[in-house]
Amino acid sequence: MNRKKLLWRSGGLLCGLAGLVCLGCVSRERAGVARDKPIRVLFVYGGGHHAPITPYMRMLDAMPGIQWTPALLPQSAGMLKPGLEQEYDVLLMVQMMGQRWEQAEFTAEQRQAFAALLNKGIGVVALHQAIATEPGWVESPRIVGGVWRDAPYEVDGRTYPKSGCLHDTDLRIRAWDPAHPIVQGVPEFVINDELYLDIYKADDNVPVLVTDHPQAKGRKEIAWTRSYGASRVFFFQLGHVPEKTWARPECRRIVQQALRWAAGKSAG
Ligand SMILES: [Zn+2]
Repeated sequence: MNRKKLLWRSGGLLCGLAGLVCLGCVSRERAGVARDKPIRVLFVYGGGHHAPITPYMRMLDAMPGIQWTPALLPQSAGMLKPGLEQEYDVLLMVQMMGQRWEQAEFTAEQRQAFAALLNKGIGVVALHQAIATEPGWVESPRIVGGVWRDAPYEVDGRTYPKSGCLHDTDLRIRAWDPAHPIVQGVPEFVINDELYLDIYKADDNVPVLVTDHPQAKGRKEIAWTRSYGASRVFFFQLGHVPEKTWARPECRRIVQQALRWAAGKSAG
C-alpha cells in the first residue's frame, strides 16, 4: 500500500468515525427533544381517612410524563430520608400521618430524616388531609404551611383553636395569580367539596388558588406554595371525596402542573 492510499484510507476511517459520533449526538439530542425525562413521583399515602386511593392512581396513570411509585404509610415512612432525592423528583403526599389520628406513626428519627431530605431538596405536592399532620410534630406546619387539627394546637409557641370542616359545599375557585405555572390554563370553576375551617396558614405561604366562600374567613387561599429547605412545596386543600375531586379536569391539571413546578420544571 503506498503512502497516498494509506492516508486516504485513514482519512476515510476518521471521517467515518466522526460521522458516527455526530450521528450519535444528533440522535441523542433528538431523543432528548422528543421525550423530556419523566418526572419521578413517589406517591405517599396511608391512613383510613379518605381511604380509596384508586382515584389518585387513575389520575397519575392519565398524566403524561409522570412515572410514579406507591409508598404506603406508616410502613414506608423510613424511606423519606436523604438520598431519596436521587431516586425521585417529587413526593405526592396525601398523608403525613398513619392509620390513627392520635398515634404518632413517624418516629422522632423519621421526622428528622424527612426534614433532612427536604433540606437536601425534593419537591412536595401535599393534598387535602396531608395538612392534618401528627400532633407534636413541630416541623410539620413549616413543611406544609398549615395545620388542621381536631383539638387545640400550638405553632411556634402560639395556641390555636381546633379546626373544623364544612362538608358537601359548593366552592368557587379561582387563580390568585393566573400567570403562575401551576394554574395556567385552569379557568375559574365550582366544585362540591369540603372546606376546612379555622386552619392555621403560615404567613409566608404564597397564595395560588382562592375561594370566595363566605365561611373561608380571613385569608381565603385554598392552595399555596412555599419552600422548605431546598424543596419546593405546594399544598392543595381539595379532595374530600377523591373519586369526585380527582376526576375533575381542573384539579388534575392543577396537580400535574404542581408536580412539574415542584420538580423544578417550571418557574414561579
Ligand atoms: Zn376530608
